[in-house]
Amino acid sequence: MVEPSSGTRIGDLILIDAKTLALSLRRSLVPIGQPGGSSPGIPIPVTPHAKFVVVIDAGHGGPDPGAIGIGGVREKDVVLSISQQVAALLQQQGIEVVMTRNDDSDVDLEPRVQLAEQVNATLFVSIHANAFRMDRPDINGLETFYYSTGDGLAQMVHRTILQNVKIGDRGVRTARFYVLRETSMPSILIETGYLTGQNDAPLLATDNFRTQMANAIARGIVLYLGAG
Ligand code: ZN
Repeated sequence: MVEPSSGTRIGDLILIDAKTLALSLRRSLVPIGQPGGSSPGIPIPVTPHAKFVVVIDAGHGGPDPGAIGIGGVREKDVVLSISQQVAALLQQQGIEVVMTRNDDSDVDLEPRVQLAEQVNATLFVSIHANAFRMDRPDINGLETFYYSTGDGLAQMVHRTILQNVKIGDRGVRTARFYVLRETSMPSILIETGYLTGQNDAPLLATDNFRTQMANAIARGIVLYLGAG
């Protein structure tokens, strides 16, 4: 029986010969709770039989609030709430989830990508909320971006959100965002509505809408993986 300490990632079990098994253990790049603190957050599950590893990337965090919209709603808070719910829903489906942040911490773009590569992620899903100018509250709606291999995932998740959440459709598009460009697995970035939009902003401020959005994102991912 192997019982690794918190934050340890378990690699593949390799049969070296009839009498020797090798198992790689390494420290995760993900901070578990606050640095040096004891708040556990959502633990990284140890599920050696999981077929899929999905990285959920809540945008921004710490001193970087992301967009700030109508009523002072901060993107970093909206996307953490949605991301944590997506993670929990995927875990319920037996999918291993790794979060790039699970609290209000500051994570650069590069370690977000490095983490996805290190855990051999099947998919990378970055969750954001959009903003335009405060004098354009008429701009509202969902946008999903991919760079290259995330096309199918983007289409599936985008469609599933539109089928399950009352939000306008601003389409699936390509974009050269760092986290999309530098990840080697199918990766997408979801802009879950406009914090500066008169329709989206009040909704993004509610737990109910965030939960609906999280449910739809998780459902789209599961459908894409063919796991549910
Ligand atoms: Zn953002």
